[in-house]
Amino acid sequence: MTTDMDIALSAELDPIVDIAAGLGLDAKDIIPHGWTKAKVPIDVLDQASETATDGKLILVTAMSPTPAGEGKTTTSIGLADGLNELARSKPEVGKAVLALREPSMGPVFGMKGGAAGGGYAQVVPMEDINLHFTGDFAAIAAANNLAATMLDNHIHFGNDLDVDPRRIHLRRVVDLNDRALRGVVVGLGGLNGGVPREDAFDIVVASEVMAVFCLATSLADLKDRLGRIVLAHSRSREPITVADIGAAGAMTALLRNALAPNLVQSLEYSPAFIHGGPFANIAHGCNSLLATKAGLALGDWVVTEAGFGADLGAEKFLDIKCRTAGIWPSAAVVVATLRALKYHGGVDVKDVNSPDVSAVLEGMSNLELHCRNLREIYGLTPVVCFNRFPTDTDEEMAAAISHLDGLGVAAVESTHWADGGKGAIALAEAVVEAAGGAPEDPAASAKYSYELDLPLEEKIRTIAQRIYQAKDVDLPTKVKRKLKQFTEEGYGDAPVCIAKTQYSLSTDGSLRGAPTDHIIEVKDVRLSAGAGFIVVIAGDIMTMPGLPREPSALKIDVTEDGNITGLF
Ligand code: ADP
Ligand code: MG
Repeated sequence: MTTDMDIALSAELDPIVDIAAGLGLDAKDIIPHGWTKAKVPIDVLDQASETATDGKLILVTAMSPTPAGEGKTTTSIGLADGLNELARSKPEVGKAVLALREPSMGPVFGMKGGAAGGGYAQVVPMEDINLHFTGDFAAIAAANNLAATMLDNHIHFGNDLDVDPRRIHLRRVVDLNDRALRGVVVGLGGLNGGVPREDAFDIVVASEVMAVFCLATSLADLKDRLGRIVLAHSRSREPITVADIGAAGAMTALLRNALAPNLVQSLEYSPAFIHGGPFANIAHGCNSLLATKAGLALGDWVVTEAGFGADLGAEKFLDIKCRTAGIWPSAAVVVATLRALKYHGGVDVKDVNSPDVSAVLEGMSNLELHCRNLREIYGLTPVVCFNRFPTDTDEEMAAAISHLDGLGVAAVESTHWADGGKGAIALAEAVVEAAGGAPEDPAASAKYSYELDLPLEEKIRTIAQRIYQAKDVDLPTKVKRKLKQFTEEGYGDAPVCIAKTQYSLSTDGSLRGAPTDHIIEVKDVRLSAGAGFIVVIAGDIMTMPGLPREPSALKIDVTEDGNITGLF
């Protein structure tokens, strides 16, 4: 069997200077990392933004995911390649650029594998992108851990700020799934070891520094946001920030180079900005704002992916990222698979590869609700993309597409995984058509699911009722008290970032389809003052995953001549 890695390694890449030239960038405008990757400095991007008119933004989101995997990243890459393929016969279509998240190494060595697409829709060099890439995550980890070490050092040397060691919120981070670090004691070793306290590690992508990195508009904004991170409370319950311990400048220095977006290419030479990668539960789950803006300035189309299903990924992309940045998509692609429809139609995950037309139609309730939300709440035209899997049958596909036709929802089948951009021409055409109906300046007519001036509790309730079809939210007294405190501290106007299971529109991962009348139980709320949102925990959220019994790492190796094997 040909693996993703076989396909990626046999690809002939263009020198990255040529990819950059295709975007109008000179060789001296980029900072090459080898000949296949480069960083594009922020001042170059600023200049391009000033002179160019913005391209059209296309959001790739999905129906509620299933354990079988739906292929949002793969479809994003396929769509960009499809648009560029379409432009070969219709030059007026223009140039498509990708904006995607950087993979975390946790899943690479764990279970899920990489996040550089699959089949003939991949970004390359995939072995680099999946392992360290240009070192951004190492820089983010170092910046985060610098704040942690400066805080412990402050306590060691007298604790002038009266930090309460039991109220420290900032955790140390590492970019691996390491369950042994979920709870640790630091500061052991007697007087010279500092002050002992209970601590914990998170994976890098779960850190607030990562969320901040991805929302920052400039180095100055990055420094301001880092400075606002509340890393602890004092014994008298006063918030203590990164600025209070004097770490913001040095953290920004560590992140200076990392903040420039990374440029690589797809197998078909579409330019791809791959930059930043916050969790889609306790953070907003999309690539850096600077990468998205780079694409908008340099391309005619920017195809970008938001994590999880549209209830989480698209909601946060639109209500948090787009609102913060003053950008707005011209259309939304909703990735669906026949397998996921069958799963939401009640079929066991191990049986989703067997044909079952009635289960396909039964599962439509889930896909339809996501489409309706995008259309009615956000005013976006959804285009459903059926990402074709080898086990799909023509009969099931025809039934699914004609069902959506009947509802007036554009739906196409796409075979980019098997055929590359040529397999995504129909998708590209549907996207061009949908975007053609969008206003000239989409940001001017942006519609959000809730307004920022609502009380925090009402924002949570509004999302729950409008997006998840919940009957209500249940907030324990402890949570209400914290929300009141955040409001008193001046964060009442912040957007909310809900962390819940991706597998259901409810908070019960086993409820499939489009459940109604369920209650969203909020367990906790946390302030991410640097990122500028309130995290609402409505489920069991793991911020330090563990490895499975047989981790993918067991299969990964390097040949004598230095080639990586077994990545996927
Ligand atoms: P997501 O971004 O939604 O998490 P990915 O695009 O990363 O999903 O795809 C998940 C996995 O599914 C990848 O290993 C990819 O190779 C595989 N995959 C995606 N689309 C297809 C397809 N049409 N046929 C077979 N495998 C696919
Ligand atoms: Mg993905």
